[in-house]
Amino acid sequence: MFDQEKIQQATRLLLEAIGEDPQREGLLDTPARVARMYEEICGGMQQDAAEHLSTTFEASEAGMVVERDIPFYSLCEHHLLPFFGRAHIAYLPSGRVAGLSKLARTVEVFARRLQLQERLSAQVADALMEHLGAKGVIVMMEAEHMCMSMRGVCKPGTQTVTLVKRGAFEQDPALVDEFFRMVGQR
Ligand SMILES: [Zn+2]
Repeated sequence: MFDQEKIQQATRLLLEAIGEDPQREGLLDTPARVARMYEEICGGMQQDAAEHLSTTFEASEAGMVVERDIPFYSLCEHHLLPFFGRAHIAYLPSGRVAGLSKLARTVEVFARRLQLQERLSAQVADALMEHLGAKGVIVMMEAEHMCMSMRGVCKPGTQTVTLVKRGAFEQDPALVDEFFRMVGQR
């Protein structure tokens, strides 16, 4: 499980390694704060998307369900820096739908851990396919990566966009067009 003490030790080492004094007043509580922060922002590792998607409701007439502009924050596994943006999700139910907040919860489960944006998008799509038995799922994510904004190529504002299609969305371009129309309406 989550090792608070180890994060505190690592934070003290990091402070020393960059030439700081971990004993100076402003930094005394920093290791404990950082440990609590990592437990929160990596909290998705202790969760299972199935918990959120196990309660479904009968909706035999339901067409495409779209949730757009779901904000998310994640951590790039290459630099341990945040990437953040918005997710747009649609699925085609096969008779049963999830509660409205559950798509956002599913995004949180996978975003709150070390990630690649491509894998995050795929994990959300696969969880909805598996646990909702959806006929098709599409997940689009737009995000800014701090490892590109504040270091390296230093290009703030660049948006990385990923698109993952499963099931009916892979076979039917008209469904994908409809998704883009619905996501594009603002
Ligand atoms: Zn990175």
